[in-house]
Amino acid sequence: MRGSFQLMKSVNKKAVLNKIRLHGPISRANIAKETGLTPPTVTNIVKELIEEFFVKESHLGESSGGRKPTLLHLNEDGYYVIGVDAGSNTIEAAVCNIYGHALLRSENKIPKTIDSEPFLNIMIQTIRTLLEDETVQPDKIIGIGVAMHGVMNIEEGISYYSSNSGLKNVPVKSELEKEFGYEVKLENNSRALALGEFWFGGFEHVNRFCAINVGRGVGSGLVVNGKLIHGPQYVAGEIGHTVISVGGDLCTCGNRGCLETFVSGGSIVKRAKEQINHAPNSLTAEDVYHYAVEGNEDYIRVLEETGYYLSIGLLNLINTENPDTIVLGGGVMRSAEFLMPILLKNIREKALTHKLRDEVNILVGKLDDDATLLGAAALLFNEYF
Ligand SMILES: [Zn+2]
Repeated sequence: MRGSFQLMKSVNKKAVLNKIRLHGPISRANIAKETGLTPPTVTNIVKELIEEFFVKESHLGESSGGRKPTLLHLNEDGYYVIGVDAGSNTIEAAVCNIYGHALLRSENKIPKTIDSEPFLNIMIQTIRTLLEDETVQPDKIIGIGVAMHGVMNIEEGISYYSSNSGLKNVPVKSELEKEFGYEVKLENNSRALALGEFWFGGFEHVNRFCAINVGRGVGSGLVVNGKLIHGPQYVAGEIGHTVISVGGDLCTCGNRGCLETFVSGGSIVKRAKEQINHAPNSLTAEDVYHYAVEGNEDYIRVLEETGYYLSIGLLNLINTENPDTIVLGGGVMRSAEFLMPILLKNIREKALTHKLRDEVNILVGKLDDDATLLGAAALLFNEYF
């Protein structure tokens, strides 16, 4: 494998590195105090971390008269990851640093129907464009993270099935590793979005974190104690296919009345057309939002209903998983101004206990369209920190 990045074998070293990541800029003395390690041990480990390009010194600390203390923070130029977001229409890739900044980007369109081999060729080309740019040294790249819609085996890095594109059994990991020689990790797009928000959205201190991707479908990801939860069949936390109306509309999964059939972009359009006389035939979910912004009460009502339905799904999740924080992302959340007031009101009224109602934190993600891409990059960082 290319790259000089080594797994953190020492528990103490990992503890110091994570202290700096989560609490930096921080002094050596405070690291010792907060980790319980002796000051000489911390000094030795920090020396190694600086030599290995993980950590940097700065002199910005508060001074109480004398010399300013030296503080430590992560080295933003130490290592990079290539994140790849393979969406329905495009494959986007970026070189990202440990702070979630994308230094270089490339993007290619993909046809609506496509087979595995041409799909992988477009992905390889998108990544190759980044590597041909000489801004980033190839040996500073520690691997490639790929996010894709659908069901996948993350150990073997095979995407089994995607209902969006019809792709089946795509051997993403083996093909990209053969092509580029970097370690490759594959993840479902909604789980990647969750990891992206967790790592780079300011939630890295949350113990039970959940993110929900509300777009063409409804996907979700749970991050517990810093790690994505999958379950033995990789469906942990999939609230999009929990049933909220017995005998309801047919869902893409084959069941009826799933949350997804109430809140996905397509279902918002379907409801708007059913409820609103003279709704244009070509109506899209974006149009619904724009009409609502213009003050059209009918469209506002459709979006408010969507917020209510989403709150029912979230209540199921809140009452079963008891997350500290839920972040909502994806295209539908661009209508957050119409969805959120009703959603929050219903949860504050109906979550199982009063403490839960008061304390569960529900908000809209900050990373917008980049959450999945950055989450794909975080797949590799998450491995080592
Ligand atoms: Zn379903």
